[in-house]
Amino acid sequence: MKMIQKFLLAFILIPSLGCSQTNQDENTKTMTVSKNENPYYSKTDTTKLKLSNVEWKKVLPEDVYYIAREKGTERAFTGKYWDSEGLGNYYCAACGNHLFISDSKFSSQCGWPSFFEAISVKSVEYNKDATHGMIRTEVVCGRCGGHLGHIFDDGPPPTYKRFCMNSIVLDFESIAEND
Ligand SMILES: [Zn+2]
Repeated sequence: MKMIQKFLLAFILIPSLGCSQTNQDENTKTMTVSKNENPYYSKTDTTKLKLSNVEWKKVLPEDVYYIAREKGTERAFTGKYWDSEGLGNYYCAACGNHLFISDSKFSSQCGWPSFFEAISVKSVEYNKDATHGMIRTEVVCGRCGGHLGHIFDDGPPPTYKRFCMNSIVLDFESIAEND
């Protein structure tokens, strides 16, 4: 009798497991805060920003906050710039700091936008990152200190570096659009 009960229980459970993958509605970017509401965003002001996460939380969209301030990582092949090829400039989505130009972007097939060099020495800063059982070099914005991604030594010439960035913390401005 007990065997039969177990057998029946299995029948009831198996289909319900199959349905347990609820469709998380694609986690559509919750842009609750627009760029215009961020008073620290500037493409011309290079003054360093030293704000607390409480202050950042008030002015950044949730997804930008998660990457920039909580050092999150977007899922590979999901960001808007991982395979983009447009000519233009990439700015920090948190503060507007100029980070990269499209000339230094290359197709790395890793699923994240990759660059072989930053626009200038001061545009980014580096921190040692020993999380997740790896020793990596974190790349942060030189103006606001926001997390951008990591840098690796497997890039193409001339630098052989690969700045592996998160699309969410990059703001792209097309050169064609500006003209
Ligand atoms: Zn920044």
